[in-house]
Amino acid sequence: MEQQALLQDLYNPEKFKELGHKLVDVLTQHLKDATASAKPTIKHKEPNEQFDYWDTYKSDRENPLQLFEDIIDNSIHLHNPKYIGHQVGATAPISALADLMNALLNNGMAVYEMGETSSTLERIIMNVFKEHIGYASNADGFLTSGGTLATLTSILAARKIKAPSNVWEEGNKEQLAIMVSEQAHYCVERATRIMGFGNKGVIKVPVNDKFIMDTSLLPALLAKAKEEGKTVIAVVGSAPSTSTGMHDDLESIANFCEKENLWFHVDGAHGGAAVFSKKYKLLLKGIEKADSVVIDLHKMLLTSNLASVVLFKNEMHGYATFNQEASYLWEESEDPEWFNLAKRTFECSKNMMATRFFVLWKLYGTTVFEAFVNQVYDASKVFAILLENTPNFELALQPETNIICFRYTQEKLSLAELNTLNKTIRRKLLEKGDFYIVQTELKGITYLRCTVMNAFTNEAIFKELLSEIKAIASTL
Ligand SMILES: *Cc1c(COP(=O)(O)O)cnc(C)c1O
Repeated sequence: MEQQALLQDLYNPEKFKELGHKLVDVLTQHLKDATASAKPTIKHKEPNEQFDYWDTYKSDRENPLQLFEDIIDNSIHLHNPKYIGHQVGATAPISALADLMNALLNNGMAVYEMGETSSTLERIIMNVFKEHIGYASNADGFLTSGGTLATLTSILAARKIKAPSNVWEEGNKEQLAIMVSEQAHYCVERATRIMGFGNKGVIKVPVNDKFIMDTSLLPALLAKAKEEGKTVIAVVGSAPSTSTGMHDDLESIANFCEKENLWFHVDGAHGGAAVFSKKYKLLLKGIEKADSVVIDLHKMLLTSNLASVVLFKNEMHGYATFNQEASYLWEESEDPEWFNLAKRTFECSKNMMATRFFVLWKLYGTTVFEAFVNQVYDASKVFAILLENTPNFELALQPETNIICFRYTQEKLSLAELNTLNKTIRRKLLEKGDFYIVQTELKGITYLRCTVMNAFTNEAIFKELLSEIKAIASTL
């Protein structure tokens, strides 16, 4: 095709409509099949085999639907209630439709005029979160691309406010450090290393037998850090930590930070969603004292990847980090300009991610978030009881959230043999592909790990999983 004809074809609205309708039909069937567990959750291939499949894949512009169908078929299916693996959510279909709209509109977001509606929606969403966290009216924040980036954004603000020198201008002068539980998500340590804190920049606080930060150790660890010439700027609380789903004692960390004039950050990427649940909100007691809070929308709040809330108790702290000139984007101004989002975000161009949440909230209210959190947290309690009452299964600890760690046991096996057995079981489950679960290691013990991320994962499915594990174990 000649150049103009090719581009006309690419942007042809009628072709979009035709394929779009067919694709929605295919996705609808996918949703039905997945919800009914009619197909495997995952069609696992080894990475090189997967590479060869796609590298040699032949497609036909006359039949574009086939390409889409093959991508769907070879992807992991989070809407199957037998997906009980990592903390990635089964997108609410209506939120996925907002995504399609976002992708097509593609407003840029860096400056107000490039996303007048989507920038404003972020501010409105922040008010919803402020209210549920229990922040005062001078809190504010924005959305950014994921919990990892949100954590880095927060710790940069902590550095700006708490470090003795201006690192943004002068580079690192002091040995700065933060304190965080040894069970925290790796993104916290990664943030400090990106910021040049180095090996000495993370003081890992040991956990107690519930796998939460032993806060009684904080004063001694801080004194030791000072002796070693470190300047501690912040303590990070996990709400909850990723492996076990257990919440640090936020109240106690808040008190320590207040006394020692440290920044208190809460990583609520996963469990921050419980601010919407009257039943489970108590797990987050103290979150309203945090200087900054991160909550992922794409984990427990029914949106697609990636969209994370970063909120600052003092809204001005959100503006402190990137006080950098960019005269081609905005005019010099004393007004913080909430509407020019790139003044506060890492991103320059950014997805119109607010709509993913906004459509859910506007159409269903916060009760839909409460319903989801309650559903999956309650389901894990059901699973825990089942595990306690089924021979050969051992629960690592009582779940506080929708994350459950357990293992299969057999008499007369050593720890090493049991670890291998559980790893093998997990591998066989993956190869079979009906269920998808993961594994973790806690104090040298290998556990199978489930996160209930699907509203329709119920007791019958947990029973089936345990039968399947038993069946696999009997063949080993
Ligand atoms: C998932 C998670 C993160 C990382 O967030 P992303 O959105 O995946 O970048 C950080 N902390 C905790 C506790 C998490 O569960």
